[in-house]
Amino acid sequence: MTLATMLLLTFRRNPKEVAAWCLSLVAGSISLASLALRGVVPEIWAVLATNVPVAFGFGWQAAALAQFENKPWPTWRLLPFAAGAVAVSMLPNMADRIAVFGALYGSAYLILAFLSSRLSSASRVVRAIMVISFALGSALFVIRGVIAVLQPQLMSQILGGNIWQSLTMSASFLVVMCSSFGYLLLYKERADQQAARLATIDPLTGALNRRMLTDLGERALARSRRRRASMSVVMLDIDHFKSINDRFGHVIGDGVLQRFVEVLQRELRAEDTLIRYGGEEFCLLMPEQTLDEARIVAERLRAAIGAAKLQVAEHLISIGLSAGVASLAADDVGTLQGLLSAADQALYRAKNNGRNRVELASAPAAAAASAADQ
Ligand code: GH3
Ligand code: MG
Ligand code: MG
Repeated sequence: MTLATMLLLTFRRNPKEVAAWCLSLVAGSISLASLALRGVVPEIWAVLATNVPVAFGFGWQAAALAQFENKPWPTWRLLPFAAGAVAVSMLPNMADRIAVFGALYGSAYLILAFLSSRLSSASRVVRAIMVISFALGSALFVIRGVIAVLQPQLMSQILGGNIWQSLTMSASFLVVMCSSFGYLLLYKERADQQAARLATIDPLTGALNRRMLTDLGERALARSRRRRASMSVVMLDIDHFKSINDRFGHVIGDGVLQRFVEVLQRELRAEDTLIRYGGEEFCLLMPEQTLDEARIVAERLRAAIGAAKLQVAEHLISIGLSAGVASLAADDVGTLQGLLSAADQALYRAKNNGRNRVELASAPAAAAASAADQ
């Protein structure tokens, strides 16, 4: 109960995310509380009150794991769990019950361990925490069941329920604590990943932001060199963008930037990375592409933008695009900075030569810019 409350408080902005897990914890608490009924109400009722909630608990844990992965988990799946618990509760002999419940709960925990091992968006460490917790739960109930089979008199007569009950309870506490901790970590990890992703993305256009340029650029260059291929970059700048802002206002200008990036992204290959360099200027990293291949892509982008009517609110806006392309051959000694400034110089030329065009940096120019840079 306490754990469930803590989880709900932690996730108060989005309680649905942990609802199923909390339900399983509540079910566990009800089951635990029902142990007090032993000897007070007829045994069958006490057994049902302990075990049916446990079965629901398993179902909800499975639902919680599915929910984390955004997979549907229909509630009717709870029914076989509950029906199984009811059926086993009917067994008159306590040792038999413990044995069959041992097999049932052991398998349920194994299923949970299996489901946890397949949580694709979780890290290995967190998956391991979940899998080990559930495997521990499985072992606990299986061992209990095996002892009930091998030494039934030990179970039902010599020790009575008490020592076994408290041993099982302590061990289940451990399982509940560890698996809940793991479940919490699943969400923490996801939140961290989202935060890290957000820090790399330009919020207006969804393109990567400049913070990523050096990191991704250096990686692309290293990859191209490793594969003995050229690396190209294209600098893109919208023509006369200031006049769009002047004519339509800044908000519409923002919308134009968004549509602009949408058009570019549609035209690009998955390997090429678009980065917002600043304002209305973008940089395209093209690993393993020659100057000529990059020029063709830049031409295609220019043509696509030139032909597009970007719809922002009720306006249909046409814009032009200038581009500068530069490339480093695999055997050129040159830096990313040099490559970028060569592309920038080519872009300058595109602007000076009348805009809405693509200009190439000559290959030696890229290397020279790199050399000057060093
Ligand atoms: P050129 O053809 O020479 O590139 O002319 P330009 O008007 O596109 O270039 P200039 O550098 O003179 O102006 C860029 C403008 O882009 C100025 C700035 O207000 C606008 N701008 C930069 N970032 C944003 C933005 O995030 N939103 C909007 N709406 N405008 C922006
Ligand atoms: Mg511009
Ligand atoms: Mg500009």
